Amino acid sequence: MVLTLFGPPGSGKGTQAEFLVQHFGIPQVSTGDLLRREVEADTELGRQARIYMERGDLVPDQITLELFRRRLQEPDSAPGVLLDGFPRTVGQAQALDHLLAEMGKRMDRVIRILVPEEVLVERISGRLTCPVCGRTYHPRLKPPRLEGRCDYDGAALLQREDDSPTTAHRRIKVYQQRTLPVLEHYRSQGVVSEVDGTGTVEQVRERVIAAAEGRELDAADASGSQA
Ligand SMILES: [Zn+2]
Repeated sequence: MVLTLFGPPGSGKGTQAEFLVQHFGIPQVSTGDLLRREVEADTELGRQARIYMERGDLVPDQITLELFRRRLQEPDSAPGVLLDGFPRTVGQAQALDHLLAEMGKRMDRVIRILVPEEVLVERISGRLTCPVCGRTYHPRLKPPRLEGRCDYDGAALLQREDDSPTTAHRRIKVYQQRTLPVLEHYRSQGVVSEVDGTGTVEQVRERVIAAAEGRELDAADASGSQA
């Protein structure tokens, strides 16, 4: 099962990704984590990647794809993977299609979390971010258990300058422009599921898991009776 999750800033993508990982027992694989790991292990690919990273350049797709190829061959990836933040471009998506086909796999499901822009802006504005683990909170919508502290590691939460209404609109627009071509690529393969990202975290979780399993769950089912 090869999955990927798309959702703009404020869509709750990170939280839903954690649910998918727990529910299906599959690893979450991101370009950043893969690169960090290779650089730390000082492998040949890691050394190549570091040259680009130190210059502040994007690591070439060829290196990134090779890292994914190796990661997908590790035993914990056998039941599947959740790709995080990858592919970002149509070129990467095409290269990934090729790579997966070589391994007898395919992109099984691309889940797109849909949330109206005004809801996203409300969620992003005033958001608090943990500088240690990157988890996000909101004083009203998703308060931490202890005021101003991360539930996970206790670090003092910060409000990022980015998380104001004006920058929120811009970030959402940038996100959409960047991801729509990739979504179109997968739409032509018939693997995109659009999930209503409004409602409680648990309601969205039900919809996301149903989508990953290829079940259609209409909004009424997901928001209605839940055992
Ligand atoms: Zn934290």
